[in-house]
Parts: sequence; C-alpha cells; structure tokens
Amino acid sequence: MAVPFDRDFTVEHGRVDRLSPLIRRVVAENPGRFTFTGTGTYIVGTDRVAVIDPGPLLDSHLEALDRALDGLTVTHILITHTHGDHSPAAQPLKERTGAPTYGFGPHPVTDAPIAEAPIPDAGTAPQEERSDLAFVPDVVTRDGDVIVGEGWTIDALHTPGHISNHLCFALREEKVLFTGDHVMGWSTSVIPSPDGDLTDYMANLHRLLDRDDTVYWPTHGPAITDPPTYVRALIAHRDERTRQIVERLRTGDERIDQIVPVLYADVDPSLHPAAGRSVLAHLVALERAGTVTTDDEAPTTRSTWRLRGTAPR
Ligand SMILES: [Zn+2]
Repeated sequence: MAVPFDRDFTVEHGRVDRLSPLIRRVVAENPGRFTFTGTGTYIVGTDRVAVIDPGPLLDSHLEALDRALDGLTVTHILITHTHGDHSPAAQPLKERTGAPTYGFGPHPVTDAPIAEAPIPDAGTAPQEERSDLAFVPDVVTRDGDVIVGEGWTIDALHTPGHISNHLCFALREEKVLFTGDHVMGWSTSVIPSPDGDLTDYMANLHRLLDRDDTVYWPTHGPAITDPPTYVRALIAHRDERTRQIVERLRTGDERIDQIVPVLYADVDPSLHPAAGRSVLAHLVALERAGTVTTDDEAPTTRSTWRLRGTAPR
C-alpha cells in the first residue's frame, strides 16, 4: 500500500500564514533532505499565545518570528523534540519573551545524529543534521499533561519512535494534533536506532487511531486532512517493509548494505545511509519480537543478522 504523500506545498519563508481561527504558522528558511521546505513554527492562540517548535537558530527565522509575534504575548514555548531544526530557537525566544519552555526532557544520550557522516565544522553544518544538546525544558511535560492558555487548551501526548523525547500536542478547541516529526504528510519519519525505536513508533501510530483528531499539523510540510486513512497507510507501509526485510534475510542477505540497495532501489542513493538506519530500526524491532538475531549486543548498520533458528553462515 502506497502512502499518499502530499508534496504539493509552496511556502514563502518568513511569512505568517493564518491556518485556522487559533493557528498561525511561519516556515523557517531551512529546507533540506529531512526538513522538506523548512521548519513550520506554529503560533497558537489569539493574543496570549503558545509557540510550538521555534525552530533552528537562523537570523532570518528569528526576525520573522519577531514580526509574527509583534503585538502578541508569548506565554508558553512548546517543544516537540530536541532535533536541531525544532528546539534551538527556544532559548532566544525565551530571552525575548520570558515565556517558559515545555518539553519531555533534554536530548537523549542514546540519540545518534541522523547523518552518520562526521560533521567537520558544526558551525556550518545543516541544522537538521544536528541535535540540540543545550535544550532543557523549564516545565517537564509528560503524557497526559494539560497545558492551558488564554482561549486554548493543549494535551501532551508522549510519542517516542522518531526520538524518545517526542511529544505531540493536541489542541482541544479545534480537535487538531500538532504531530511534530511523528507523522508528516510529505515523507515517512526517520527512526534512527537505538534512540529511535520502531516498536514504540508503531505503537504510537496505532495509538493515534484511537483518537478523533480532524487534522494533523506536522512540523514539516502540509496538513494531513484525513488522519485515520493516512496513519493506516503508514502502518501498512512499515509492516510491508518488515516483511520485505525478513524476505531478504530468507534469500541470504545478512547485512544492511546488502538489503538497502534492493529495497530502496528507487530512492536517491544520497538517502541510503538514512534508509540503512531505518532498516536497522526494523531489524532491532524484529530482534525484540524474536524473529531475527545478531551477535552484536549494540547492533549498528554494519551488524550481521540472520533469521532466528537458522545457522550462521
Ligand atoms: Zn526530528
């Protein structure tokens, strides 16, 4: 089943777009392989507002936020997770507004950078490929916590999978969900093992099916206007990928660098390292389920795998 991706999304970076009575968005000028057209920073409320994911430390974006927030009072800064395209601008925004930050916790120690290649000069490396090691929430936010502002009410959902500290935020007044990088309309989510966890990710997709959100607003790309259909397609896509990986092992592959070129033949080779991380996430989940095995205690994209019950070659 193909996931009905929607990449028909044109943005004007820095412009304030009114999306609904309570929601505005400003997209940062950080387009990229993992950010699509850039980070969408959401402003929720009318006069006293919450800002969700202030985004990367880009002067152009900070200036755009200043313009967008002119005349408003920021009372809350909400962080979906600590990747470099989501949380770094929380600090300057907090300094300007005095608003406290809300998030699950600091960056997890087990999270590896999404790009495996060494970053020679972090000063010029793409923000999206870095983690925000500096962020510490003022208010530690857990699953089920309710955040109340003027004219808006937000429920926090802990949704590990893409990263263990990921939160989604549900806006009760409009029955919509800010999905961060957990569910995006333009692409699947990267699940970088070991902190990224496919077992958790799948559980948190199934969990969304129990909700009745009418629209998803992801950090990157367009709104998802038929959430149940889209989430079911994501689940089917991952289940199919799992079956394909098991099939590759059955036919004799034992390493990710054998599996990826086959399963991702139609994908730009520059994305194969990320695909390898995704296959690793599937293999780790399969190992936990008892389907496959590896001799490595801390599996990497270079580990050797076999179906459980088959002899090592
Ligand atoms: Zn992310």
